[in-house]
Amino acid sequence: MDFVPVNEPLLDGNEKKYLSECIETGWISSEGMFVKELEEKFSAITGRKHGIAVCNGTAALEAAVIAAGITAGDEVILPAFTIISCASAVIRAGGKPVLVDSDPETWNMDVKQIEKKITDRTKAIMAVHIYGLPVDMNAVLNLADKHNLKVIEDSAEAIGQTYNGKQCGSFGDVSTFSFYPNKHITTGEGGMIVTDNDEIAGRCRSLRNLCFIPEKRFVHNELGFNFRMTNIQAALGVAQLERLDEFKKKKERSDIYIMKD
Ligand SMILES: *Cc1c(COP(=O)(O)O)cnc(C)c1O
Repeated sequence: MDFVPVNEPLLDGNEKKYLSECIETGWISSEGMFVKELEEKFSAITGRKHGIAVCNGTAALEAAVIAAGITAGDEVILPAFTIISCASAVIRAGGKPVLVDSDPETWNMDVKQIEKKITDRTKAIMAVHIYGLPVDMNAVLNLADKHNLKVIEDSAEAIGQTYNGKQCGSFGDVSTFSFYPNKHITTGEGGMIVTDNDEIAGRCRSLRNLCFIPEKRFVHNELGFNFRMTNIQAALGVAQLERLDEFKKKKERSDIYIMKD
């Protein structure tokens, strides 16, 4: 049986050139300029105020869930069909994942089943776009509004995709992406958090970098993570982002993925 790949990385654009720049200049850590460039370009594409690059999509979810204020005892509604990272981020934050079954048409969370799962402890809905098909975000946003819930949007599989003409990753209080090689663009390992909320962005930046306090370095009031993205990863990301439209068109062409039996 031949497997149909979800995606195969194409690295024949400016990837080599930007990677060489990292080596030649010696800027390989997270302090390099490609990290900022990727954050700015990526947040611009999703129409967001802030972009926070991290080391992978799982880390993006972990920081986003904490920054969204999920804490001990909080319930987060999320799809039964997704990667473990969604549920594990909630559990690590002390919360409880509450699962909703899939819509057989889209494989996304069946939005009609969300409301009956809402309790006094529900704090957020995590919407996950599966295989590039967007979740019915209007339904999610209306429910969140009605019940005063946060929306965490996992757009790892929907880079550059749209729902009602708006970019996936522009809907959540906080939205996350992965740049693993089976996504629309790749940095080998990598991820991104985007948000318009200054406080959430600040918390994500702090959590990403061990919760250092800028004015009192080596004093820590909170436990963070080392979720930093390297300049090498970001160099790949900037080159890949230049080709997002081309990659999207390739994915839309069903004839290049013909199943052999
Ligand atoms: C790939 C993926 C992730 C995790 O990303 P990693 O970079 O592999 O940690 C999270 N959510 C979804 C929906 C994904 O497809």
